[in-house]
Amino acid sequence: AAVIVGIDGPSGTGKSSTSKAVAAKLGLRYLDTGAQYRAITWWMLSNGIDVEDAAAVAAAAGKPEIVSGTDPSAPTITVDGADAAGPIRTQEVTSAVSAVSAVPEVRTRLTELQRSIAAAAPQGIVVEGRDIGTTVLPDADLKIFLTASPEARAARRNGELKGKNAQDPADLAATRAALVKRDAADSGRKTSPLAKAADAVEVDTTDLTLEQVVECVVTLVES
Ligand code: C5P
Repeated sequence: AAVIVGIDGPSGTGKSSTSKAVAAKLGLRYLDTGAQYRAITWWMLSNGIDVEDAAAVAAAAGKPEIVSGTDPSAPTITVDGADAAGPIRTQEVTSAVSAVSAVPEVRTRLTELQRSIAAAAPQGIVVEGRDIGTTVLPDADLKIFLTASPEARAARRNGELKGKNAQDPADLAATRAALVKRDAADSGRKTSPLAKAADAVEVDTTDLTLEQVVECVVTLVES
C-alpha cells in the first residue's frame, strides 16, 4: 500500500531537506505545500492584488493554475505555466505569504489540490507543510513535527539565502525576528494554524545533523 508521511513545523527546522531526502531514500514522491502558498502569493502580487485585503485575495484564490512536480530529486512549481521556483523565494513573497495563507478560500483550494496529489502518488508521498498532520492528511501513516531553537533556525536560513551572512550578528538577529514574526502569524490564524497533531512524533533538530534527522524519520517509517 502507498505510504503517506506528513512533515510539519516552523521554517528553518530542516523540513524541506529532510522531506526530500526521506522521499528519495524510500522511493516516494515529495510535495512542498509551502511552495504552493508562495506560488499563489506571487501570483497575487504580480496581479496587483492587495494581499492585506482578505476579500480581494479570497475572490482571486481560484484563478491561478498551480502545478507541482513531485520528483524529490527535482521538485518543480509552475503558475499558469510559468516557472515559479525562483520568484517564490524573494523577500516580497516571504513577507506577504502569511497574509495570503490566512485566507480560508486559499486554504480550501490548496488543501484539495494537496489531497489529490497525495492520492495520485502510486508508492506514496512525503508532504511537508504546517497543517498536514492536523488538516490535509489526518490519516497519514506517519506524522512528524520538527522543531529547533530560533537561533539554529536563523543560522540555517541565513546559510540558505544568497547574500546573507550567517556570521553577522545583526543580519542573524533580523532573520530571527522575521522567522519569529512569520511563525506567530502562522500559529495565530483561525483556519488550520501551524500546529502539532496529537499523534505526531516531535523531533528537535537543534543539535542533529540532516543525516541524523533523515535516519530517524526513515526508521520511524519502516517500523
Ligand atoms: O514552508 P515555507 O516557509 O515555504 O512556507 C511559506 C508559508 O506558507 C508559511 O509561512 C505559511 O504561511 C504558509 N503555509 C501554510 N500551510 C502549509 C504550508 C505553508 O500556511 N501547509
